[in-house]
Amino acid sequence: MPLQKAGKRSQETSASSVEPSGDFGELSRAVRSQEIFCLLSSFLLIFFSYIPPLLADKGEQPPIKAAQGEAFIFKLAPGQDTTAIKGSLLGREVPFFKLEEGLYGALIGIDMEDEAGIHQLRVEISKRDGQSLSNIYPIKVIPGKFKIEDLTMPKDMVDLDDESLKRVAIEKTKTIEILSKITAERFWKGAFIMPAEGRLIENFGYRRRLNGEARSPHNGIDISAPTGTEIHAGNDGTVVLADDLFFGGKSIYIDHGLGAYTFYSHLSQINVSLGDKVRRGDLIGLVGSSGRATGPHLHWGMKINGARINPISVTRALKE
Ligand SMILES: [Zn+2]
Repeated sequence: MPLQKAGKRSQETSASSVEPSGDFGELSRAVRSQEIFCLLSSFLLIFFSYIPPLLADKGEQPPIKAAQGEAFIFKLAPGQDTTAIKGSLLGREVPFFKLEEGLYGALIGIDMEDEAGIHQLRVEISKRDGQSLSNIYPIKVIPGKFKIEDLTMPKDMVDLDDESLKRVAIEKTKTIEILSKITAERFWKGAFIMPAEGRLIENFGYRRRLNGEARSPHNGIDISAPTGTEIHAGNDGTVVLADDLFFGGKSIYIDHGLGAYTFYSHLSQINVSLGDKVRRGDLIGLVGSSGRATGPHLHWGMKINGARINPISVTRALKE
């Protein structure tokens, strides 16, 4: 096979994918090989620090630390006379939800490519008497540990034909539109669950350069499992996409509310329809290798208000 790795060698070998949002182009089934498996599945040890809940009404704490590609819960106790609370970080809206009387929380995602350093979480609190307060909380974004891999492939395997390019562009626009909506209601509760049993490949954020050109980083994790393995909803939500996509193959997107989405790709079968309400653990489909996948596995991704985060961080860090 003419595929050569010029970068670091992967420790793991498994099936993996070219992402729905990726642009690996003609990384087709014709080039299925051991090398491809290695190409897409390098192990990534992401930093999963649990961020302890912050209970405060002043912005005087040391910065909260969060790694690129990580999600955490931010808690605030602004008092029982609070009528509304909203936040923003890095230009993205941070919606809050009520945990109990006087106590609010927000699920915050740090995008895998957010700049490392101190950023400001701005919080606006509206009070019953009409007053409003504005606080700033420093968030220290620390670099994620994302491997870089250099790959070389024949050009004709990388470039897409016009028809495929057109389809990819249409699907990209559609999925961006879906994921940009922030549903005001929160459907998710508690920790997200792993959607499938299998071998977890923590290749989130994997940076790839193909023929010297930077490509989209791997925007999820892969769970290697036999075709037909059950896939379950990570949490409660609404199905906002159930379709066959060029890169992702048969895919499902679930809106968990307040800007949190999970997506599941390369399925062999979709068991839900657009608009379906699902509960955490519901069977939604079966593992496959549809789309640009080199073998059966589930690609599981998550976005929180536009930030691409490792879904594992919400299975580990989300305890209310
Ligand atoms: Zn993947």
